Amino acid sequence: MMKNLCYESTSDCLLKCPYCISNDNGVMKQDHYLEIIDFIGKLLPERLVIGGGEPLMDALLKEKITLIIKKYHEVNEEPYISLSTNAATIITQDKWLFLKNKIQCLDISIPSLNHDIYAQMRGIDLLDQVLINIRKAVNYGLNVRLSIIMTKQNYNELENLLKFASATNVNSVRVGRYFPFRNAYDVKDNYELDETTVIRIIDDINNGKYSNVYSGKIIPPIRTLSMMEGYLNVDFNGMLFVPNAEGKKLIGNVHDIDINALKSSFKDSQSKIFIKYKEK
Ligand code: SF4
Repeated sequence: MMKNLCYESTSDCLLKCPYCISNDNGVMKQDHYLEIIDFIGKLLPERLVIGGGEPLMDALLKEKITLIIKKYHEVNEEPYISLSTNAATIITQDKWLFLKNKIQCLDISIPSLNHDIYAQMRGIDLLDQVLINIRKAVNYGLNVRLSIIMTKQNYNELENLLKFASATNVNSVRVGRYFPFRNAYDVKDNYELDETTVIRIIDDINNGKYSNVYSGKIIPPIRTLSMMEGYLNVDFNGMLFVPNAEGKKLIGNVHDIDINALKSSFKDSQSKIFIKYKEK
């Protein structure tokens, strides 16, 4: 079974992060979503990450998730769907209940608790709405993961963000790092951390420096970009790719890819992907 697939389901987003990597997917179309869902149904990844853009702005999100779940159920499997969101939109009660019932993890990205830094990193200051949504997600009983991307702008805030994670009772935290790939390359001088700082952050997490601050699972940043070579993505046009130093390494298209060959070609690289299920 394929371990992980990331479906970039929309290009719509209400934020304007200068380091946004996904705005190189071209013009947004929904023409291919049924073929993409068929592909997901054949691949049956152990974990499906639905991202964007901002997937909560995707008008077809509910339909897509419902169809994906159906594909797994047709072969008596249960999906593990992680929705990767900036949580900056207003989320209706109806949508909260849908998420609570249908997805296994809500991965909320929050780079800062400081309004100025949040605005610098996200282009627009919608931090208050994000904080409201994190608390609501926990109250609705979702499995909530905070994703914190470390850059030059915010790396001093990690401890504060982990205190916040503890105070809000989120289930886990993933600490990511800015990589100068895809469209983010152009702003690397403003965001890229030096390697010594990244290694210190990774070692601090692995050595338990923050275990008194946050008792849940903290997933550290990856050490090298080559660890992403098993990170298969499909965009909303059905193009399959993995991120690499040049941007994207194209693998093919959902229309004509040989699923078995794809699975076996990713077997080794995917074994490096860390999947932690149900951090409750
Ligand atoms: S929140 Fe994500 S999709 Fe939206 S602009 Fe920022 S990086 Fe891009």
